[in-house]
Amino acid sequence: MSLTVDSDLNIKVKAPLFVSEEQIDSFVKKNEKWIKDRIDRITEMNKSLSLKPVTAPFIGEDIAIRRWDKRKTALSGGELYIRDDEPEKERAAIIRWYRDQAENLLNKRTAYWSEKIGDHPEKIRVSSARKRWGSCSSTGTVSYSWRLITAPASCIDYVIIHELCHIRNMDHSPEFWARVRTWCPEYEKQKKILENCSKKLMKEGWM
Ligand SMILES: [Zn+2]
Repeated sequence: MSLTVDSDLNIKVKAPLFVSEEQIDSFVKKNEKWIKDRIDRITEMNKSLSLKPVTAPFIGEDIAIRRWDKRKTALSGGELYIRDDEPEKERAAIIRWYRDQAENLLNKRTAYWSEKIGDHPEKIRVSSARKRWGSCSSTGTVSYSWRLITAPASCIDYVIIHELCHIRNMDHSPEFWARVRTWCPEYEKQKKILENCSKKLMKEGWM
């Protein structure tokens, strides 16, 4: 049996036909705490989405957001200026800005690490992936989620190194990790920080 709670807080149980109603009831009862936590988390997320963002995470820092009447989104004096608008439109404008920054920085850093490692991607792409920071296809296309630009610089470098090492090793074999460690000795630490970055993005309505 499986349980899901969707963004409108509908609770759904999936069960095979032979399962009785009592069994379903007791399954739901047993998972009461999980359901409650899930509802709390979704409510929190919906709330943060309907609010105007106060800060925007950018290369490991929380940048304060200021509003002006120009269309342009721009970083100035360590603050991010956006057009005063409805919350979703403001977020969309910031995400467009994130994508531009991601294209620029990730291309540069990938070129830097490609030279060092000696493997060059066929193509670099910036995606909207939520569940992964980066990926590498068998044809040598390296993709990064624009969300990677919100993480600290050391984590950005780790993801780039990870994906570039996949050009030669398409698996997560000990040999692959040994090569990652050569260029990023503290990769375990970066992985942990990235997990927290995901949680923070979720909490602040950027997922
Ligand atoms: Zn990998």
